[in-house]
Amino acid sequence: MQQTDPVRRSPYENCRIVLTTKHDKAVAIRPPFEELLSAEVITCDADTDQLGTFSGEVDREGTAFECVRRKCELGLQMTGATYGLASEGSFGPHPTIPFFPCDYEILHFIDHHRGFHLQESLLSEKTNYRTASLSSLEELDRFAEKSQFPSHALIVRPHVWRDRSVIFKGIQSPDALHEAFRTCLAQSDDEKVWVETDMRAHLNPSRMAVIAELARKLGQRLSAECPACSTPGWGIVRFEKGLQCEYCRLPTELVSEEIYGCVSCPFSERRERSDGVKAASQRYCAWCNP
Ligand SMILES: [Zn+2]
Ligand SMILES: [Zn+2]
Repeated sequence: MQQTDPVRRSPYENCRIVLTTKHDKAVAIRPPFEELLSAEVITCDADTDQLGTFSGEVDREGTAFECVRRKCELGLQMTGATYGLASEGSFGPHPTIPFFPCDYEILHFIDHHRGFHLQESLLSEKTNYRTASLSSLEELDRFAEKSQFPSHALIVRPHVWRDRSVIFKGIQSPDALHEAFRTCLAQSDDEKVWVETDMRAHLNPSRMAVIAELARKLGQRLSAECPACSTPGWGIVRFEKGLQCEYCRLPTELVSEEIYGCVSCPFSERRERSDGVKAASQRYCAWCNP
C-alpha cells in the first residue's frame, strides 16, 4: 500500500524474500515485511538443527552472528533466490543487569541483487527464559507458573545425564509435564531434573513477539534509502557518546549523536538524538556526581 505517497515505492515491492526457518517464524516476520516493504516472505524448510540447537545436543559453531549468516546463505543456496532472511536467538542474563533474563534476537538479510548483507538485532527483557534443577513436583509447578506454562512450552531431562536420548521437548500439557518429570527423576543419578523453557519460536509466544518487533525494525531500515547512492538499508550504524552535562557542560558517557550509514557506500550523517534529549542529568556526570 503506497497511499500516502504514490511516487515513493518500496525497493522490495513484489519481491520474494526466502526465510530459512524450521520453526515457522514467518508468522512473526511476514506481516511487517508486507506492510512496510510490500514484499512477500516465503519459507525454506532447511534443517537448521545442523547448525546447532538451543537445548545443547549439537553445539553451535561460532558466534550467533556467524550462525545466522550461514543459515541465511544456506537458504539462498537451496532455493537459488535473490533475497534471503534468517533469524537467531540467544537467551541468558542481561549484559549489564545481573540475573535479569533477556532474549537477544538477530535477523540477517541478504540482497544478492544489490550485493549487500544487513544485520539488525534487538535485546528484549520480554522473555520467560529460565532454567532450574528441581527435585519435587511442587517445585516443578512453581517453575511452570513463572514460565507462563502451558501457553509457553517446557523441556525436561535428567539433571545428571547418562542417556542423552531421555529428553522431553515441547511439553504443553500439565499431565505430560508431570509424567516427563517422573521419568527423568527415575533416570537421574543425583535425583534432580533439569527443567528449562522451550525457546523455539513456535512454542514460545513471547519470543515470537520479540521477533516481530525486530522484523519491523529491519523492515523500516530496508525501506529507507541512502541519500547518496539510493541503496536500501540506510539507518543507524553506531552511537557517539559524550552528551554534555546540563550543569557543567562536560561530556558524559551518555549518547550524544546517532550516526547514520549506508550498507554500500561510505556516505554517513551525524544526527542529534532522535528522542530529543539535548543534555545529561547531573547524576550521570563524573565531575558533578563523582
Ligand atoms: Zn556536570
Ligand atoms: Zn550509499
